[in-house]
Amino acid sequence: RAKVEGGGVARRFDPELFAAAEQRRLAEADLLRGIEAGEFEVHYQPIVDLDGGHTVGVEALVRWQHPVQGLVPPAVFLDLAESLGMLPRLGGWVLEEACRQAIGWQTRFPGFELNVNLSASQLGNPKLIDEVRAILEQTGLPPQDLVLELTESVALTDLVESARVLSALKSLGVRIALDDFGTGFSSLSHLSSLPVDVIKIDRSFVQAMPESGDASVAEAVMHIARTFNLSPVAEGIENAEQASRLRDLACGRAQGYHFARPMPAGGVTELLDKQGVPIQTL
Ligand code: C2E
Ligand code: MG
Ligand code: MG
Ligand code: MG
Repeated sequence: RAKVEGGGVARRFDPELFAAAEQRRLAEADLLRGIEAGEFEVHYQPIVDLDGGHTVGVEALVRWQHPVQGLVPPAVFLDLAESLGMLPRLGGWVLEEACRQAIGWQTRFPGFELNVNLSASQLGNPKLIDEVRAILEQTGLPPQDLVLELTESVALTDLVESARVLSALKSLGVRIALDDFGTGFSSLSHLSSLPVDVIKIDRSFVQAMPESGDASVAEAVMHIARTFNLSPVAEGIENAEQASRLRDLACGRAQGYHFARPMPAGGVTELLDKQGVPIQTL
């Protein structure tokens, strides 16, 4: 049994704890190696106009093309990367890469929109505004076609500071979206104090909509959007039923496996080629 409290704390050797710490060290080293080796890539999930059914933009989603594990989703590495302070660098790379891609799509489809996620550490990074400005200038992407997404939990951690940073971002001309909307409880009382343009209705509400029956939560969120004059985007649409119910609720835009999964840039180019029609911009 462990003893010696006070001066130094001697703990009993715990093989599980040791294994976990060792695991984390390995993951850390692997992550650093992966970043150095340029193993990260950006995939894009189409965002569609629910009325016309056509793609009007994409959300950039980072992936790790791991030499052994294959394509690794962000749920596996983002928290670690964030805790290691790597997100400003990795996220900056994602933003630049995605803006370059988007400007390519825009040459044929002016107004094509790009959504990019920001992490807590990116929002807290004093260089963020200059970085976004520089990337917009270098790539030539019109600021109004860039939407930066933040989760409620990130935006609400320090409301005053968030409002300041978001205002500075908006002064560049970009738009702000609250991601996974409805999953943070304090959101409503603070919604009016943040300069937000878009709310992304969390997929848990979309998927909670019964096949037949009422859609009261999704309906309530749509009401909130209208009240605060925010453009709603529904996330996680997986079937035609959900799509048509949201259309009935006058939700303009949606994203989900029903329309398209996240895909490499080439897939979006093909999709736009097939679609052919010009994008209706907001
Ligand atoms: P998110 O921003 O809410 O992105 C939507 C997530 O839902 C994506 O997961 C997408 O693949 C998934 N999704 C889309 N449609 C459906 C559907 O119909 N059903 C289901 N079950 N899922 C759907 P993904 O790509 O694994 O990303 C997870 C989260 O990781 C993102 O959630 C975002 O918070 C974060 N993330 C991804 N890329 C980045 C990035 O470049 N920077 C930052 N800071 N965070 C990122
Ligand atoms: Mg997002
Ligand atoms: Mg989301
Ligand atoms: Mg989500």
